[in-house]
Formats: sequence, C-alpha cells, structure tokens
Amino acid sequence: MTASQAILQGLAQDGGLFMPTEFPRLDKPLKELAPLSYQETAYEVMKLFLTDYTEEELKSCIAKAYDSKFDTEEIAPLAKADGAYFLELYHGNTIAFKDMALSILPHLMTVAAKKNHVDKEIVILTATSGDTGKAAMAGFADVPGTRIIVFYPKDGVSRIQELQMRTQKGDNTCVAAIEGNFDDAQTGVKKIFGDKELEKELARAGFQLSSANSINIGRLVPQIVYYVYAYCKLLAGGEIKDGEAINVVVPTGNFGNILAAYFAKRIDLPVKTLVCASNENKVLYDFFSTGTYDRRREFILTNSPSMDILISSNLERLIYLSTGCDAQADKELMRELAEQGSYRATDSMRAFMSDFWGGFASQEESGAAIRKLFEDCGYLIDTHTGVAAAVYGKYKKETGDRTAAVIASTASPYKFAPSVMAAVKGEAAVQDKDAFAVVDALSEMSGVPVPQAVNEIRTAPIRHSRECAPEEMENLVKNVLGV
Ligand SMILES: *Cc1c(COP(=O)(O)O)cnc(C)c1O
Repeated sequence: MTASQAILQGLAQDGGLFMPTEFPRLDKPLKELAPLSYQETAYEVMKLFLTDYTEEELKSCIAKAYDSKFDTEEIAPLAKADGAYFLELYHGNTIAFKDMALSILPHLMTVAAKKNHVDKEIVILTATSGDTGKAAMAGFADVPGTRIIVFYPKDGVSRIQELQMRTQKGDNTCVAAIEGNFDDAQTGVKKIFGDKELEKELARAGFQLSSANSINIGRLVPQIVYYVYAYCKLLAGGEIKDGEAINVVVPTGNFGNILAAYFAKRIDLPVKTLVCASNENKVLYDFFSTGTYDRRREFILTNSPSMDILISSNLERLIYLSTGCDAQADKELMRELAEQGSYRATDSMRAFMSDFWGGFASQEESGAAIRKLFEDCGYLIDTHTGVAAAVYGKYKKETGDRTAAVIASTASPYKFAPSVMAAVKGEAAVQDKDAFAVVDALSEMSGVPVPQAVNEIRTAPIRHSRECAPEEMENLVKNVLGV
C-alpha cells in the first residue's frame, strides 16, 4: 500500500487505520530547517511520509494549500504569553486548526486519484464535532471529481460553527444535522465505510468513498509540520538552544493533533512531554492515569465542543505502536471498546506511553485561564485553548517542569465568541445577546479585528437544512448521490 493509496482509501479494508510501516527521520539538521518558510518546512516533513508523491507533486500541493487563504504569511505564528508559546493554528479559511491539514488534503487526494488511475467520483464522508466539517467543505468545495457529505451533532456545535457549515457554498457539498452526539455521527460514518454491499452499489454508480476525518493518514502527516516549524522558529529566534527539548500541550478530542506531535517526536524532533488536555469528557485523562479506557459514561456538552468526544479514534494508532506494532492485539482491544465499551492497557503498553501526561480542566478552570491570560497579558484565546492553558498550569504545578512549552492554539476566539466573552467579562456580558453582537464587543475589547470567516457569515444565505437520525445516515448518503 502506497501513501497515496492510503490517503485515497481513508480506512483500511478491515476497518483499521493506516500507519507508516516505519518512522522516517528528518534528513536535515534542525539548525538547517530553522530559517525555512512554512511551505519549505512542509515539504521537508511531508516528503518523509508521502514517499510516492514526486517532489513536483508535493510542492504543488503545498503551494496551493498554504497561500493567501491564510491571513498571515507565517501561516502558523507563535505568540509568547505568560511564559508559554501559543502556536496559533487558526489563521486559515475557517479559523480552526483543522485548516492546517484540510487545506492540503483535497490536493493530496486529487493527485492520488490521478496517480492511481481512479475513474470514480470520490465521495468524502465526514463526521464533525464542529470544526472538521466546515474546514473539509471549504477545502473540497467545487474540487472537480469530488463530493463531500458532512454530519454534525444537531445541538452540539456553536452558533458560529453551525452557520459556517449551513452557509457553505459549492454544488458538491452537503451538510446534515444528526439527532445525536459526535460519537453517534462518527460511528455512523464508520459503519457506512464498513458496509461492503453499499460499497459495491456505490461503485456501480461510479462513486468511491473516502474520509477527511483524522482517521485519514493524509490528515495526520500535514499536522506534523507545524510542530517542527514551531521548534524551528523558537530555535531561529534564540528562545531555545539547538537540541533543547520542548514540551507540547494539546487540547485533545479525537487524539489526532497530539498524535501528530508524537509523530514529530518519532522523526527526531526534541519533544519531552506531550501534555494531553481534555475537557470534562476526560476519558483520555482517565486512560493515562489508570490504564483503562472506558467510554461508558455520560457525554457532557461543554463550551469546547470540538473536544466533546468519548471515542478518540486516533488513540488506536498509539495503542498499535504501544503493543510493538501488533495489529491483531490492537484490533482485539478496539473490538472490546466497540462491544464492551472499555479495554485495559498492559503495563508494558503503559510504559511505552509514559511520554504522555493526561490532564483535564472543567469549564470554570478553562474560563479562569482565558480570563487570566487576557487580564495579565492582553492575549485572547478560545475555549479549547483555554482547556490546554488550564491543564498546562496544573502540569507545571504538579511536576515543577519548566521546559519551554508550545501550546497548540486550535481555534480563533471569535469562533466561540459568547463563551470567550463570558469567561472574561462574566455571563451577564453575553446574556440575551446575538452571537454577532458579542463578536463585535469582543473585537472592541481585545483590539483584534474580526476575521473574514466570521464577517462573511453574518449575511450569507442558509444553503443546507437536512436533518436525520443516526440510523438514517446511509439512506441520506444514497439519496444525496441519487443511488
Ligand atoms: C478538532 C479540535 C480539537 C481536537 O483535536 P483532535 O485532533 O481531535 O484531538 C481541539 N480544538 C479545536 C478547536 C478543534 O477544532
């Protein structure tokens, strides 16, 4: 299986996730990478994994992805505040970190389709907790030879997120609200992928399914880039010495972003601890502290909705590595998770994962971190990054570790304006106010201009109004495709 085939297919035939057969190593010293642009760094990292793409193909994908869609030439700037480095991953089209990978995935996929002589139309099926769906549609909108269908939890996304999705342009895009939560949407999508009858039926009609979720290895690889880039910028700016280790703090849901940071470590980026920050859906915190992964618990709707997840799909990849790459053992544990709702890691697996430190923060703790950062440093972060900042505070307190830390800042505060405003100024400041009125007040308070992505949905017409029950997802797909 080549990289381009894995990207095209999304999920392996047996329902498992694709993994590189071995970890490559950065083939240039970090000092040499330090002065490179984001695009140049992207090439140096992605070429190591996407080995069947030619230099020309890869560079062209990178150039098309990381262009003026981003509102800064740095693409992923670092901001120093309160002694930590916030890696701002929200300067793309849809103001969340999903843009970092989903700006390039459509290009990687269309090149892959050409390379592999695919004659069918590619249908991207995506479950979203709010940010992936919009970023994927923005990436795939009107890309020839592709269609995209997105499912989001009806009451599980912010007002701005919902409007962003429902106003999406592009004749090949479709969005449906699921009467359920994110896990219902993700499970439904996985089920459709696993349905061999449907696969044949779709093939006869000229369609082939693929995924834009972080189960697709084509999402993961572009996410490794910004950790290498952040390290290089710290090095170039004299903030760290060559070879000095950094810690990475990641607000986590599906475990994709933090796994990319781990992959960066595996290709020789000096990373010490990976701090995995969860919100009140703290299944990962429990896993890292007890060794038992147990999804049988109440699903809590929080103001960091993109982390409201109880089945963190990408953990499957770390589990695989932790078993010494025993695919059968990994499969067995995932089956236990699906059938019994839990599984237990062995001591050797846990030892393998000891570079991860799990923490969680309540909505109050995350809010307090947002407020403190704004009051002390004048720096505004969103609710997801707030969880990371709060957990990082706990990490420092518990361990005393003062290693330089990069905190992944995963969304613009404007995407969650009412929650951010309430954190800084109290609930009264947002009560009975329309989301856009709060957006304007937030801009006035912070002096940060309102991003284009928010301004354009103020008046954009609603184009999508589909709703369905989780068990109707397959029918909806057929219906949309006219099969
Ligand atoms: C998706 C998302 C996350 C969680 O990332 P995972 O890769 O799913 O762990 C965190 N914050 C924001 C804003 C997101 O959109």
